[in-house]
Amino acid sequence: MEKIFDNTEIAFALKSNKELNRAYFLFKLISSQALVKMGTSLTTFAINTKLPVKGLIKSTVFDHFCGGINEEDCLTVVDKMYTKGVSSVLDYSVEGKETEQHFDHALEMTLKTIEFAKKREAIPFAVFKPTGVGRFYLFEKKGENLPFTEAEEREWQRVLECFDTIGRTAYEKDVLLLIDAEQSWMQDAADEIVLNMMRKYNKEKCIVLNTAQTYRWDRFDFVKKVHEIGLTEGFYTGFKIVRGAYMEKERERAAEKGYPSPICATKAQTDATFNKTVNYILENIDNKIVLYAGSHNEESNYLLIEKMRELNIIHNDKRVWFGQLYGMSDNISYNLAKHHYNISKYLPFGPVYDVVPYLIRRAEENTSVAGQTNRELDLLETELKRRRSK
Ligand SMILES: Cc1cc2nc3c(=O)[nH]c(=O)nc-3n(C[C@H](O)[C@H](O)[C@H](O)COP(=O)(O)OP(=O)(O)OC[C@H]3O[C@@H](n4cnc5c(N)ncnc54)[C@H](O)[C@@H]3O)c2cc1C
Repeated sequence: MEKIFDNTEIAFALKSNKELNRAYFLFKLISSQALVKMGTSLTTFAINTKLPVKGLIKSTVFDHFCGGINEEDCLTVVDKMYTKGVSSVLDYSVEGKETEQHFDHALEMTLKTIEFAKKREAIPFAVFKPTGVGRFYLFEKKGENLPFTEAEEREWQRVLECFDTIGRTAYEKDVLLLIDAEQSWMQDAADEIVLNMMRKYNKEKCIVLNTAQTYRWDRFDFVKKVHEIGLTEGFYTGFKIVRGAYMEKERERAAEKGYPSPICATKAQTDATFNKTVNYILENIDNKIVLYAGSHNEESNYLLIEKMRELNIIHNDKRVWFGQLYGMSDNISYNLAKHHYNISKYLPFGPVYDVVPYLIRRAEENTSVAGQTNRELDLLETELKRRRSK
């Protein structure tokens, strides 16, 4: 198959030399586990002791991985990416805040991004995280079928209302809605709510998409089961398929509590589950199901393209979407767009200090996925060389 992802001229057409050099420097730093550990500790220390590091974070990792401080800020990046056919998913990336005030704010931001998406072709999706609008502990307790106290029950009703408000707004504004997946021990409760949202809002077409993390060996069966429920009851299902971001925590908890790990034993098994699940959706694409494949893995993206070709699914079929994170794998995103596939990149935003946990996760992920970082460095180097030789 033609290696379309190798074209660095297309991949980095929107990046200035300065931006390419900054990206090279960042990925070089991130490729060192020791530096990421030190950087993480130093950043946390600096923020806690109120050292003035905001400007430094903003002009380096923040600007590389985020679209801005608020949704308005992101529009420059959104419009720029869209000139090359790459659309955006505005992702309010403030994590780990558990007060009513923060939950209300996250709800407000999600509703705002739906409104934004409604008005712009360049933003086809809205997204939110379940624990952005409710306490982790409540999801966990609900998933384990433990009884709530009266106060918790009231709090839980508020969480349900929040999900419903978001689902109803997306439905009324006709905006696709992605719901992120998190740790397995809170996910059952979230899955149940999302299933009910699909029942309610996906009757005429797919509006609500859940996420399946295929590092969990049970997720192929999960996707199939939800799809079958949809077909029996007459609603559409939609899935974002990803590998999963919490592997170490999942394994540690399972070992600590002595239950079988929900995670595939090897990377090869995760890859196989990812590809099998994506193939299942593509093979059923005429059967009321929608796919958003979120991955930086080139092989999986090539396999998806190949499968679409085999099944005669046109490149820009509105039921099939590709996705990467802003600041990563531009070679996949922009080359897919060039070939008219539907591609929508997550564009995180939020106040600089509040998105630091997200940024740390990106740094750690790129460190643990050494191959990916080296690939980014190779591509950047190739493009810088190509420009110099012109
Ligand atoms: C658009 C988008 C949306 C996302 N949304 C979510 C979300 O809602 N929830 C979420 O959890 N993550 C989400 N992610 C992150 C995603 O789950 C992965 O962490 C990340 O994309 C890396 O996987 P990959 O397919 O890109 O690449 P790869 O580099 O091929 O895969 C790395 C992944 O493989 C798995 N893996 C690595 N080593 C092993 C091993 N030894 N055994 C078993 N499995 C292993 C892990 O999941 C690891 O993250 C999203 C990613 C994207 C691009």
